[in-house]
Amino acid sequence: MSDTIITMANGSKWKPSTSSDTVHCVNCDNAVDTPEEIASYPTGNCPDCGESWTGNERRSTSITVTAPEAISGEA
Ligand SMILES: [Zn+2]
Repeated sequence: MSDTIITMANGSKWKPSTSSDTVHCVNCDNAVDTPEEIASYPTGNCPDCGESWTGNERRSTSITVTAPEAISGEA
């Protein structure tokens, strides 16, 4: 995952918070997190266990709350 960097007018750089919504296979806990898997969901099969996506996959939302963190400008 690439970070988005916000550059403020004064030249300081900040990283914003991010969130991601991840679906996990009910059969093997494989996460639908690669472009191929996302493309196959929800009509294809889980590439790990070969079972078809059922629509009952566990969905978890992970929110990474990153307090604005200065990554440049240190004295
Ligand atoms: Zn699976």
